[in-house]
Amino acid sequence: MTTLARSVAIDRRPPPAAPPDARRYVNRWREPEALGTETVTAFVMILRTRGCYWADLKGCSMCGYAKDTLGRSATPEELAGQIDRLAEEYRGEPYVKVYTSGSFLDDREVDPESRLRLLGAFRGARRLLFETLPEFAQPATLGPLRDHFPGELEVALGLESTDPVILERLINKGSPPSEYLAAADRIRSLGLRAKAYLLLKPPYLTEEESIRDVLRSVGEAAPHVDALSINPVHIQNGTVVEHLYRRRRYRPPWLWSVVEALRQGSALRGSARLVSFPTAGGLPRGPHNCGRCDREVLGAIESASLTQTFDGLERLDCRCRAEWAAQRALEPLGIEA
Ligand code: SF4
Ligand SMILES: [Zn+2]
Repeated sequence: MTTLARSVAIDRRPPPAAPPDARRYVNRWREPEALGTETVTAFVMILRTRGCYWADLKGCSMCGYAKDTLGRSATPEELAGQIDRLAEEYRGEPYVKVYTSGSFLDDREVDPESRLRLLGAFRGARRLLFETLPEFAQPATLGPLRDHFPGELEVALGLESTDPVILERLINKGSPPSEYLAAADRIRSLGLRAKAYLLLKPPYLTEEESIRDVLRSVGEAAPHVDALSINPVHIQNGTVVEHLYRRRRYRPPWLWSVVEALRQGSALRGSARLVSFPTAGGLPRGPHNCGRCDREVLGAIESASLTQTFDGLERLDCRCRAEWAAQRALEPLGIEA
């Protein structure tokens, strides 16, 4: 798997971009989010950077974000061009999310001055989120950012699973879960918010095993974070997961599994928020049910995530629920297309 993962990672990294491309961010959009009990609009951006260094070395089995990167470090001037364009399109949304297809705190992706420039451009936000690998979440890096930003900073970590074997062997992450949890503790001790992503259905786990993995992870990670996001796998180009999917050895998770993980996880989350906003929900390459109920189930998942009221999930039903229940146990014997 390591050899396959490495060749996939090299294949999906684009050639170095010419300067005009490097001044263009990858994407931006708006989406509903919650600040406490209030539903608000979040302004979300993806910066074009060199991307995740781990994707060059091995890469995670479900991650295809390297395709959105530069293939080299962006200069401070190029990042300034991206930030300035985004600032022009910002309408004062109270929640801002910054993605880089890697780690915002890795100097090779975003240099320290550019980080401060970005925080300054969005200093009107009440909360600003960015993602990082745990090794970059250090007091010397986080302290100046905290001091520069009047609102809350939320640091998101791709923990994925608290099982070291699943994390290392199936997901192919470079650090054990203990390093993610220690980083979350450092983040919170500095007065920042910590959020962890949990992956629903890494390759080689059945639907049942993946639900159990997420539930155990919710219980073990909750004391270390302010929020947990259950991220069901969607098939990204050039990944190990896509390799298996094309050979009919992987089905994206059912939305019923997300419902189950939220329903049972809500009792294990302690004081942490528990949310899920599935990417590509209802699509063949994303988490999906039968097609008839997907829209309603996705709506209930979003509503539960925003309000932290999980009762609405109990009332959902569809004929496909029985099929999901059967596949939870028998999936290795009968994967559907
Ligand atoms: S999931 Fe995160 S750590 Fe893994 S290759 Fe993608 S960006 Fe890097
Ligand atoms: Zn259905």
